[in-house]
Amino acid sequence: MKRLWIAAALLLALALGCSNGQEAEAPVSPAPTETPAPTETPEPTEEAVAIETPAPTEAPTLPPVPTPPPTPTPAPPLSGIRIGIDPGHQLEPDYETEPIAPDSEEQAVRCAAGTRGVVSDVYEYEVNLRVAQKLKTLLEAQGATVFLTRNRNEMRISNAERADYFRTKQVDLAVELHCNGSDDPEARGAFMIVPSVNRTESYSENVQAATEILSHYCAATGLSTRRHNGITFRSDRTIFNWSAQPIVCIEMGYLSNETEDLLLTNDKFQDKMSFGICEGIVAYFNGGTTPEGGTP
Ligand SMILES: [Zn+2]
Repeated sequence: MKRLWIAAALLLALALGCSNGQEAEAPVSPAPTETPAPTETPEPTEEAVAIETPAPTEAPTLPPVPTPPPTPTPAPPLSGIRIGIDPGHQLEPDYETEPIAPDSEEQAVRCAAGTRGVVSDVYEYEVNLRVAQKLKTLLEAQGATVFLTRNRNEMRISNAERADYFRTKQVDLAVELHCNGSDDPEARGAFMIVPSVNRTESYSENVQAATEILSHYCAATGLSTRRHNGITFRSDRTIFNWSAQPIVCIEMGYLSNETEDLLLTNDKFQDKMSFGICEGIVAYFNGGTTPEGGTP
């Protein structure tokens, strides 16, 4: 019986010993993990604020624009043309004489006196020179080479010498500038004088140039044409008879007419006069309109 109790006690001891030694751990629920506190955005340091400005790069250069091929500039309409201008008369008339033509024994005064403004008292030689100088400027702007028989009033040059001057300069066209005078105070208007057919080898050129100059002159100035077709033919003018080149003379108006006197001696009106003559010369050398012609 004693053994039985001992056995029982051992078993009990074992059982207890087991329970004490091997204590089952209670399931532990995991401690809740702390939500991490939001990390504070770090205060920007000065260094961070001071964003370094990039060094300025050079201004961007545009790609080079291709140079267009040069467009050929058209030559001026009177390029290569030589124009002679004779401002009629001079300060002192020259009553000595010279042959009226190379083949003539007839004499004519070297340089007659011109007319004078009926109300302005301006002399014709002054008006002629002023218009000539304006015309020279305009013609040169059109490419022409221009020769004036005189560039001042105090000169002594005869009509034959003026023609000779044009010959030595080999002008393509000579234009005389004159103003007219008349006992009839109502006489007015512009017209052209050209050499008679038996006094020139340039008859058709003269007529064509005269036609162009007169039509453009009247259009620019508003002055009327004095004669039926505006062209008078003369065989008794020394400068015509001695001329080897085409030559015309324009009578720009009447200084004996009160209205035209005030126009012809006016600086602004002289601009119109020279402009019209220049336009006519350009038209003549560039085909122009068909000349109406005239009767010698
Ligand atoms: Zn005159």
